[in-house]
Amino acid sequence: MARLTVITGPSGVGKGTLVAGLVRRHPEIWVSVSATTRAPRPGEIEGETYFFLSRELFEQRVEVGGFLEWAEFAGNLYGTPRQPVEEHLAAGSPVLLEIELEGARQVRHTFPAAFQVFIKPPSFQELERRIRGRGTDSEEAIQRRLQRARVELEAEAEFDASLINDDLEASLQLLEQRLGLG
Ligand code: ADP
Ligand code: 5GP
Repeated sequence: MARLTVITGPSGVGKGTLVAGLVRRHPEIWVSVSATTRAPRPGEIEGETYFFLSRELFEQRVEVGGFLEWAEFAGNLYGTPRQPVEEHLAAGSPVLLEIELEGARQVRHTFPAAFQVFIKPPSFQELERRIRGRGTDSEEAIQRRLQRARVELEAEAEFDASLINDDLEASLQLLEQRLGLG
């Protein structure tokens, strides 16, 4: 596996599910915990799912260069805290970022050696079904995510590899192959 791996794909495609499965099988992988100004969803844990910050605090951290990359997505700010990523890379751990398209583009400039994977849905209808099935987003948030998904899906060719997340187990095996995890 590359020292730094980026996983991107439209909201609801199953990135979080795939990453959780990958880490279960490969506990040596360290997954970055992002900061966000989005409100926590039921069950999300501060410091585990995200660091939940006010917009003011987030912007202060942007000012002092605290993020490796950051972007606005569907009305909220998201960013990768710089220091823990640099520490894990320095310690030789494989590092994985699960981020949206604009952030992946920034990482492409700052870490050209990073390996970037794009996750696609079997169809746009299935993507919508998954976002709705997750049952955590307001109708307005769903619409913003679906709009953004159309843009993100056009960027697939920018990535080093891509896969369709249809059957979960098959997708996990494909992802392992793409990442050279055997
Ligand atoms: P993302 O992190 O990309 O926003 P999630 O991992 O939260 O997406 O998945 C969105 C929804 O789709 C969840 O309800 C999840 O259980 C479901 N899901 C994920 N992968 C699959 C799959 N391969 N087949 C069917 N449903 C899936
Ligand atoms: P959600 O609100 O569904 O958790 O995440 C929305 C989008 O933000 C997803 O595409 C997710 O990959 C992305 N995201 C999560 N953390 C980060 C981050 O640190 N930086 C960037 N650029 N995107 C992120």
